[in-house]
Amino acid sequence: MSTATLYVIATPIGNLADISARALQTLREVAAVCAEDTRHTRPLLAHYGIDKPLIALHDHNEEAIADKVVARLLAGESLALVSDAGTPLVSDPGFKLVRAARAAGVKVSPIPGACAAIAALSVAGLPSDRFAFEGFLPAKASARRERLSRLASATATLVFYESSHRIEESLADMLAIFGGDRPAVLARELTKLFETVLDGDLASLLAQIQADPNQRRGEFVVMVQGAGDDEAAQIAEGRRLYARLNEHLPPSTAAKLAAELSGAPRKALYGQADHH
Ligand code: SAM
Repeated sequence: MSTATLYVIATPIGNLADISARALQTLREVAAVCAEDTRHTRPLLAHYGIDKPLIALHDHNEEAIADKVVARLLAGESLALVSDAGTPLVSDPGFKLVRAARAAGVKVSPIPGACAAIAALSVAGLPSDRFAFEGFLPAKASARRERLSRLASATATLVFYESSHRIEESLADMLAIFGGDRPAVLARELTKLFETVLDGDLASLLAQIQADPNQRRGEFVVMVQGAGDDEAAQIAEGRRLYARLNEHLPPSTAAKLAAELSGAPRKALYGQADHH
């Protein structure tokens, strides 16, 4: 049967009511549901009175499971893919399965719904005509700073996912690299009891979460307005100066001078010249 479909279904990011009628209908109809964590998905389905065989599919077994799932789809069974929260494949498992299904000529169809990044953008009041979804920053400080310095001159609004463990460190790095006056919005615990959306600039957001430990709890979307054209030009000039000065001076001195002469944040330049 060629009509078997892999339905990629968004589930709630907090409030259990945020699931579409079509998502529930499809979950009732499919033969089985591939889930990131069956212990998480079973109660969600139970809440809606749905009892389905679940197939565990997470980052560590996805390749092996994908082949078996595709074989079932090719045999004519329609299946669903869900993650723990929000839209599968968005900082969640599913990529390998969707790739394998498409490669096998199986129909893959979305049942759209909650996504933390989109929900956050929709209330941030930052430019959203162009945005870059950056997902989670690297856990290691050096890699995180490197990634951020590459983004310093990006002009689209930047959207990051962050957890309570690293929110303070990440905001501190953003402040150092993008500058404290860059407009930013922090969306915490969207659709949940402690939903909070803080706006301001990076300096004021960091100060607020440092002053109140409750503001460091839960799940976060961090959104940072892109660099203005002047700022992007300053950073480009700073990087050019840094590359030139670094031929004759120690990196830290070269960066300090390049920042002074260009007006760009020093940390937006540092480490960059090695790659350009
Ligand atoms: N697939 C999900 C989606 O579509 O948004 C994202 C999964 S990712 C593993 C989890 C991260 O998403 C959290 O660390 C947080 O950054 C963000 N997130 C998820 N739910 C959220 C919520 N209710 N409020 C704010 N951020 C949330």
